Amino acid sequence: MAIDKAMIQAALEEAWDEGRNVLYEGKVADYIPELAKADSSNLGVCLMRKDGTVCTVGDYNIPFTMQSISKTMALILALQTAGYDKVFSKIGMEPTGDRFDSILQLELKDWRPFNPMINAGAIVTTSCIETPDPFQSFLDLARSLCGNPKIRLNECVYRSEKRTGTRNRSIAFLLKSDHVLDGEPEEILDVYFRMCSVMVTAKDLAHYGMILSNHGVDPATGKQLVDSRIVRIVVTLMMLCGMYDESGEYAVKVGLPSKSGVGGGIVALARQGVGIGTFGPKLNKKGNSVGGEKIMQVVSEKLGLHVFDTKTF
Ligand code: GLU
Repeated sequence: MAIDKAMIQAALEEAWDEGRNVLYEGKVADYIPELAKADSSNLGVCLMRKDGTVCTVGDYNIPFTMQSISKTMALILALQTAGYDKVFSKIGMEPTGDRFDSILQLELKDWRPFNPMINAGAIVTTSCIETPDPFQSFLDLARSLCGNPKIRLNECVYRSEKRTGTRNRSIAFLLKSDHVLDGEPEEILDVYFRMCSVMVTAKDLAHYGMILSNHGVDPATGKQLVDSRIVRIVVTLMMLCGMYDESGEYAVKVGLPSKSGVGGGIVALARQGVGIGTFGPKLNKKGNSVGGEKIMQVVSEKLGLHVFDTKTF
């Protein structure tokens, strides 16, 4: 049976209610001082389908900073400009099981960061972007993938992280000392901090997920925004390592390639041109939005979206 808009809307509303019930379990990120100002009661979801169906509940239109979700777009840009061989000669493709900002494995196992979804990997990814103005290229890409030309930088969050990002500085200088990072660490970090501080809404993220699910093609224009081979790489890494050191449990429960950020966003995609974006700044201990994760789980269950589910959307 085809799933119509009313069924999707009902599933989102139920999921949103359940998400609200678990908000008490989370806490807004405060290690970047400016993030602590987020309204902890916010919770929103948007599901978008390539046929133009858009369903929303709650705070789906409130802007927040992408944070780690930017790592997926930085990877797209690095693969587009530097190519597969260069990028993956410097970064691995394996999940870590460690915190997103861990330095541990760099010293213990491999001088290459384990994957592009952790901070060490994303800093190297950033260094691989070969355009005259990497941040502007990132912004242009984000605007096209989110279908929103108004997407912009949040200056306050950017400055807040630049002022306090000592751990990311440690990672960048360690990578430099091991000759993994080409270029000036401070310059690369500046682009990295800016990318993390670009603002999106849950609706923007749903559009992004829908484009990824549609193999990189914008259904509205028919334009191939991202090569489908690059989409396949990014989506696979989202499935394996997109939810920090909770990626395995999330894959079992939700079963959708996803990426979260400490700003409270999650982007997910299901088969056949379906994108989902959620926003809820209260995070669990792993750094994932508690309300967003619950919404993803309920929506996936209700609509049978899990990649290994037998039902089809
Ligand atoms: N800007 C954040 C940092 O590097 C991103 C972390 C995240 O969202 O996981 O610490």
